[in-house]
Amino acid sequence: MIPVTRPYLPERERLDRRIDGIFERQWLTNNGELVQELTKRLEGYLGVENLLLVSNGTLALQIAYRALGLSQSVGSGPPEAITTPFTFVATASSLKWEGIEPVFTDIDPYTWCLAPNLVEAAVTSRTRAIVPVHVFGNACDVEKIDDIGRRLGLKVVYDAAHAFGVNHNGRSLLDYGDASILSFHATKLFHTIEGGAIVFRRKEDFVLAKKLINFGITGPESIEGLGINAKMNEFQAAMGLCVLEEIDTNLNGRRIIWEEYVRALGDRYQLQQRDTSSNSNYAYVPLLLPNESDVITAQEILRARGIETRRYFYPSLDTVEYLPLSLAATHSADVSRRVLCLPIYFGMPIDVVSVVVDVLDRVSAT
Ligand SMILES: *Cc1c(COP(=O)(O)O)cnc(C)c1O
Repeated sequence: MIPVTRPYLPERERLDRRIDGIFERQWLTNNGELVQELTKRLEGYLGVENLLLVSNGTLALQIAYRALGLSQSVGSGPPEAITTPFTFVATASSLKWEGIEPVFTDIDPYTWCLAPNLVEAAVTSRTRAIVPVHVFGNACDVEKIDDIGRRLGLKVVYDAAHAFGVNHNGRSLLDYGDASILSFHATKLFHTIEGGAIVFRRKEDFVLAKKLINFGITGPESIEGLGINAKMNEFQAAMGLCVLEEIDTNLNGRRIIWEEYVRALGDRYQLQQRDTSSNSNYAYVPLLLPNESDVITAQEILRARGIETRRYFYPSLDTVEYLPLSLAATHSADVSRRVLCLPIYFGMPIDVVSVVVDVLDRVSAT
């Protein structure tokens, strides 16, 4: 079976050596040596400061909202954040969990990221933040969105779960907004089994968040404020260090497959329109088929041949029952019905690409 993705597993001896160190130190969590080392290595690799490792990407979002004070109510009602309906559910559910109402505005039909002109029109007296997603690692219009945030006094938190290693105009994409979050879940390009990080623009926010992830405890007998447990442990960091040491191998393997897809799909399919000032991290291969029934047919034929694909992201989140109704999100509805993510992972046999493309060609020809 060819899965749609597969976790990158580093060389076993490399991981064993890291784990031997954990056994020698007998220190398993609470800002251990490996968590500190991974923090420094990631800051160096990504070209950022104020990076805080946490136990997963969803808590990274929740801690970012807390540290930026977004959960505080506005007058009599809950605060609101403007976000995209075309994303993984955690972007919106994390807001709801923190008592912030997600307000969905539509995406751009070509880049599939939040459309900045619609964001501004949706701002109300309750709006506290904008939470855009660099969906499939494609940079949002960060200049326009950051400008709206500054002009209207709104915080901007980018969900950069897909954007590990993406630079924009020669600097890290994580440098934009008040904070950006990463997910290091096993299925992501870079992973720590489960894990995540927040990159803060301001040192003060980073310092506060560091307290929040450890119950608000600041010393053996000092509890400074409300907190939660969102710490990364040493085994997660050990995996992360090993995966990071082999990141070029991982990226090169993916690049060859990604480029082969792009070549084989040619101009016959609508691919995501990528930001021209950013690099790709080869994490996903999404495309749009002409209609939803083609998506379902292609998926069935490929599954029968042992190849898994995913309808990422379907359904559009504005249709999820517990999430509030949104402004019309027609592009998100359309893209989510027609999108299909093709298999890509380090070590995937390259001939899978031609099998997939042949099936797509036959389905869209009928
Ligand atoms: C994976 C993902 C998350 C959640 O990250 P976890 O580490 O799985 O909690 C959030 N947002 C997006 C866009 C994701 O793809």
